[in-house]
Amino acid sequence: MGRLVMKFGGTSVADVERIRNVARHVEREVKAGHHVAVVVSAMAGTTDRLAGWCREAAPFHDAREYDAIVASGEQVTSGLLAIVLQDMGIPARSWHGWQIPLKTDGVHGAARIAAIDGDEIRKRMEQGQVAVIAGFQGIGPDKRITTLGRGGSDTSAVAVAAALDAACDIYTDVDGVYTADPRIVSAARKLDRISYEEMLEQASLGAKVLQTRSVELAMVYKVPLQVRSSFEPPDAANQNKPDGTGPGTLVCDEERIVEQHVVSGIAYSRDEAKVAIRKVKDQPGVSASLFGPLAEADISVDMIVQNVSADGSTADITFTVARKDLQKAIEVLNGVKDKIGFQELMHSADVAKVSVVGIGMRSHAGVAARMFKSLAEKGINIQAITTSEIKVSVLIDEAYTELAVRALHQAYGLDAKH
Ligand code: ASP
Ligand code: MG
Repeated sequence: MGRLVMKFGGTSVADVERIRNVARHVEREVKAGHHVAVVVSAMAGTTDRLAGWCREAAPFHDAREYDAIVASGEQVTSGLLAIVLQDMGIPARSWHGWQIPLKTDGVHGAARIAAIDGDEIRKRMEQGQVAVIAGFQGIGPDKRITTLGRGGSDTSAVAVAAALDAACDIYTDVDGVYTADPRIVSAARKLDRISYEEMLEQASLGAKVLQTRSVELAMVYKVPLQVRSSFEPPDAANQNKPDGTGPGTLVCDEERIVEQHVVSGIAYSRDEAKVAIRKVKDQPGVSASLFGPLAEADISVDMIVQNVSADGSTADITFTVARKDLQKAIEVLNGVKDKIGFQELMHSADVAKVSVVGIGMRSHAGVAARMFKSLAEKGINIQAITTSEIKVSVLIDEAYTELAVRALHQAYGLDAKH
């Protein structure tokens, strides 16, 4: 039996009773002969509360102190789980990021993992001790605590699994990855497998199951990820099989996906806002003078559409930003208005992005056409479009989000057959 990393999110460790439930999942894998490391998040709501206190203390605060404060949530759960495991007769100890050590760069609040020394943990796991690791945190070059950005425990887990050459099970409050949000589409189906690339698109398009960075890491280091629910009973029947199949959804290399589908999921995000700049001169350098200042203000632009007027003298440029950045974007653009010389700036936050994702798009024509056709049949207007090799996204009126997701789910044959 090999090494296994088990990661538990905030709702799975929300109180001591749930931590006991987590310990029973760990016990099952220990009894099956695995050498286990567990990565835990903070109890549900804790990180939000800690971050809120930082903002209350001072709206602009030292990011190093923010890290020292928010990292404490994971320290509590790692200690509690170690105590519960010990109480069940399973040798265990807690590990903070600096004790491993899990080294990161110095970007406090959004650090990236630089190196993990897995020797000590590996040795102890071989002696039968469960390593209970505080997720989300590491140690920076300044020897101070760093955190990996919200949702970062997923990334801790994948990085530890890569360092230990272990499989990685991500336990969460849903039982896997679905073809669409089951709260919107009742006919959504749980996928047995999904490729890293599709999962990466899903995560960056707004599916909250996994932190985007964790999927990137898993893809680079080829760590198979099993996404599964901690709320299923922790009995032996629930165990992963040696071929990697089991409860939940396996995120893996596309070669390992047997059930082929052109589109594997429909994603949506309401976290969008649209900005339209009317009548800018249509000449070289205009886009640079618009998007340069936005980039400098750390505002990411997603979809971009440009239309040139009939006489070719002016252009309208429409683009999207994250909804939280809209006000800042308006300020930045008004600040450069005289320099660029546009006539009007319009904006709207009542938009949503709906996307179809699937690796099958690489080899199948007509995927986008089908999308446009089924939206047209529902009378939904498309305001902007972007594509990548494996996804097509459209911007629509937010009021039609659910209708669009359901229509597309059906159009690509994803509806479960009841
Ligand atoms: N507790 C941290 C957060 O809420 C890290 C995590 O749970 O992944 O962002
Ligand atoms: Mg999470």
